[in-house]
Amino acid sequence: MIPAAPAPLQHPAPRRWQAAWREAVRDPRELLAMLGLESLAVGWSEAAARQFPLRVPRGFVARMRHGDPADPLLRQVLPVLEEDRLVPGFSLDAVGDGAARRGGGLIHKYRGRALLVATGSCAVHCRYCFRRHYPYADDSAAAAGWHEAVALVAADPSLHEVILSGGDPLSLADHKLTELTEALRGIPHVRRLRLHTRLPIVLPERVDAGLLGWLHGLPWPVTIVVHANHANEFDPAVDAAMAALRATGASLLNQAVLLRGVNDSVDALADLCERGHAAGVLPYYLHQLDRVAGAAHFEVPDGEALSLHAALAARLPGYLVPRLVREIAGEPGKTPLQAAIGRIAPAE
Ligand SMILES: *Cc1c(COP(=O)(O)O)cnc(C)c1O
Ligand code: SF4
Repeated sequence: MIPAAPAPLQHPAPRRWQAAWREAVRDPRELLAMLGLESLAVGWSEAAARQFPLRVPRGFVARMRHGDPADPLLRQVLPVLEEDRLVPGFSLDAVGDGAARRGGGLIHKYRGRALLVATGSCAVHCRYCFRRHYPYADDSAAAAGWHEAVALVAADPSLHEVILSGGDPLSLADHKLTELTEALRGIPHVRRLRLHTRLPIVLPERVDAGLLGWLHGLPWPVTIVVHANHANEFDPAVDAAMAALRATGASLLNQAVLLRGVNDSVDALADLCERGHAAGVLPYYLHQLDRVAGAAHFEVPDGEALSLHAALAARLPGYLVPRLVREIAGEPGKTPLQAAIGRIAPAE
């Protein structure tokens, strides 16, 4: 056996999650080869991959079914030809974030709570995401050293809840997160902290001792809203991550997006809600897709969405049924789909 060379002392070993992050699959050809699929059969698109590159952690790929081009996890991440079609009504700023941006990465749309675009980075690139066109690179709160965002929160006593979003806020290192929460600590009207993150699902390695220590030390009730769209996204590593997060006292909720070919059946939705519950996560929102350019093939028509939701409510206990909502620019909160119908201007 050859003795290993000693590691250079000045470089601490990268944290396990950071290594897993960097090793994400970024080449569609590699992803398809790992799954035993032919490029032609799945219709992946170079152009779509250029506009919004593929990115998927290896642990998430391991939860995909080998040899199945219709796998619901694969469909969420693979750039495909359908994205290249221009579809009327599907635009670049589908949810009116542009108008609600307050500077410093802060988006204040709803009463009492402000959303902080903490960073533009995500561990996974979801093809249906409205942020695929969002210019967060130049407007993220961490990039600006948090100062402007913290000052805006401090100046508005009506803000009781700060929501860390992105991108994915847990893509930031623990010391960056600590920097922010130390600054927020001094603001008496901040009563709640929320995280919107997909990392504990797609890269459960992120839930490590450092992150848990940070959560334990926070002075506010913490709500963590994770994002899983299909029961297959849960595996034993995700279960362990959820259990560890809950042990810090945080409440765990899930938001999902209703997606054609991923979870557009009563069985798939019921499985998702029950599987999440088994992991300690309650359903929160089921979002109607934001009409963002490149995502039209994921859309489930409103009428079908409402019947799926009614069938789900007839099958599960009330606490396992997510609220079916759509985001409409200018509304005071997420709008229940039933009320949203007819409020969206028809496509030209
Ligand atoms: C969705 C969202 C929130 C949170 O809404 P809740 O209904 O409280 O979950 C807050 N701010 C913005 C900008 C949002 O898009
Ligand atoms: S913001 Fe969330 S949904 Fe969008 S790409 Fe990142 S992880 Fe996916």
